[in-house]
Amino acid sequence: MKSGWVDRDAEAAIAQFAKQNGAKSAIDRDLALRVYTTRLLGRDPKLVLRGGGNTSLKTRMRDLFGEDVEVLRVKSSGSDMAAIEPDGLPAVRLAPMRKLRALKAIDDEELVSIERANLIDPAAPNPSVEMMLHAFLPHKFIDHTHATAVLSVIDQPDGEKKSAEVFGGRLAFVPYLMPGFGLAKKAIEVFEASKPSDGLILSKHGIVTFGDTAREAYERMIEMVSRAEDFIARNRKAIAVAAPQSVPAVAQIAPLVRGVCAEKDDQVDGAWRRLVLEFRAGDIIRNFVDAKDVERLSQSGLITPDHTIRTKNWPLLLPPPERGKLADFARAARERAGKFAARYHAYFAQHNKRTGGIKHELDPLPRVVLVPGLGLFGLGRSKQDAVIAADIAEAWVEGVGDAEAIGRFESISEADMFDCEYWPLEQAKLGKRKELPLAGQVAAITGAAGAIGAATARVFAAAGAEVALLDVNLSAAREQANAVSATALPVECDVTDAASVTSAFDKIAAAFGGLDIVISNAGAAWQGRIGEVDEEILHKSFELNFYGHQRVAQAAVQIMLAQGTGGCLLFNVSKQAVNPGPNFGPYGIPKAAALALMRQYALDYGADGIRANAVNADRIRSGLLTPEMIAARAKARGLSEKDYMGGNLLGREVTADDVAQAFLHQALELKTTADVTTVDGGNIAAAMR
Ligand SMILES: [Zn+2]
Repeated sequence: MKSGWVDRDAEAAIAQFAKQNGAKSAIDRDLALRVYTTRLLGRDPKLVLRGGGNTSLKTRMRDLFGEDVEVLRVKSSGSDMAAIEPDGLPAVRLAPMRKLRALKAIDDEELVSIERANLIDPAAPNPSVEMMLHAFLPHKFIDHTHATAVLSVIDQPDGEKKSAEVFGGRLAFVPYLMPGFGLAKKAIEVFEASKPSDGLILSKHGIVTFGDTAREAYERMIEMVSRAEDFIARNRKAIAVAAPQSVPAVAQIAPLVRGVCAEKDDQVDGAWRRLVLEFRAGDIIRNFVDAKDVERLSQSGLITPDHTIRTKNWPLLLPPPERGKLADFARAARERAGKFAARYHAYFAQHNKRTGGIKHELDPLPRVVLVPGLGLFGLGRSKQDAVIAADIAEAWVEGVGDAEAIGRFESISEADMFDCEYWPLEQAKLGKRKELPLAGQVAAITGAAGAIGAATARVFAAAGAEVALLDVNLSAAREQANAVSATALPVECDVTDAASVTSAFDKIAAAFGGLDIVISNAGAAWQGRIGEVDEEILHKSFELNFYGHQRVAQAAVQIMLAQGTGGCLLFNVSKQAVNPGPNFGPYGIPKAAALALMRQYALDYGADGIRANAVNADRIRSGLLTPEMIAARAKARGLSEKDYMGGNLLGREVTADDVAQAFLHQALELKTTADVTTVDGGNIAAAMR
């Protein structure tokens, strides 16, 4: 591992800080460099991941009364080191924190209250849960990481011996204690007894380095991690791997995995708690999942305690899938997922009893799934959470694999894992946001670059769904996806081409693990007097306005059946389906067939929990009804454009967003199927009967 320190960058960080804050004292310089090296540590996933790790600086500043006080600036809890700003290092009065050392123990809530009462800025975020360790140690700069290579060396039955061998006397060894006040007291005791020059090893947890300058603490971290990497490289022995076999594609396996990792909601009939998936493969992952000893390795526990809130303590290990035997795989996967949940319930019950029976059980669903022959899945209530779980799982695979390559991996005890998983200060890192109604669900929208499609993607994403935007024009879909969310997936899809539809739905299954809602919206209008129209026109319209819906619904149903958790098919049918317009047969007739298609899906798949509904919309500004067309039609009828667009019972213009809201309503109504919702401002001739 190489030092990322560059003098020019460090000076630039100082200059930028001076520009922002209008001062350039030694104190500012220290803080600027604290931010600079914190980012250097944060950008390397081999050192810290996703809110893990922390850094601090002891300095002076003026409080709100203008008094000069000694403070600890320490990373805030759960924040990302790679993107840290000075505000991400809240300042706490140091003297009162140090006094706490005299206490034998302190309640978590009380400790947080004391910390908050001593913040210089009362609105600052909570300091790291490892803040007391930074406060008790005397050093000006302290860096703490969960470097994977260090964990491979110390997560061993003889971790202390290996630590001495690799780091010599430069790092003192602190036995495992749960992060927090107890560990901070132990760390300072060990430091005072052995006075190591460079830092501490926290058994089964991570590494601390310190220094008089930001650069010294940082480069000691890099040097120590490099020592661990060299030791692993020198002592590595190969792990036995099973012969690779013929495995199905990720797109086929993912919906089966997602289906068995969902939980029925006991309170609401038809509702599920679902997770979104993120797939990872690569040599290190494949070597792990294909290891002959994968049963033992996979169940051997965490590499560092705070991973538990993202990955739980163990992954779900599935049997190797074989091509052509998906049903066998699905059955075995369901059985193993059932055992995983049962084990989780038992683990919770046992340790909750031990700790006073006051904890509230989290869901028993896995957050990491290993599939031999294929790779691993990270799972989460959102794509972002799934990505975080997958990032941590990758580090875990590497950490455990390397530990086994130089000895035998050993984690903390199950009781210690429980104490971290259910520690309120760890859970607080995840935040207390209220879950959105479509959290955990995946929605695909066809014709997503058009006005109604784009509005629907926005509305579903705002309701918590992960969205795939399908359009024949990929760059237009990408543009809309970028405007919707960071995780929205643009997919090229021509619904008139069966192979294009199959490929698009495979991409969705591979990207999110499956699909719960499809909004079949792509369409275009053709005109012609029905007795004289060219048959070719009718064929074209049927291809898009009927077969397009059928291909999309069929592809979606395949995924939904594989998941076994129901689903929802929504069709944009248009009022033409029930209220034909003159010379509009080539458009209205396939739309009427699409309405019948919706009812057929509702009938054939109701028993599988798959609902089918349609929206009849009319007169929406879109690619079908362009400003030029509006102007021409309004003029032809002798109306203003406003009166033309509001020509309905309510006298209100209907927008793409109104249509999107109707789709959302249908997606949320779990007891509604074979329904047509009219969104046209009121038109008796087009009313359903
Ligand atoms: Zn830590």
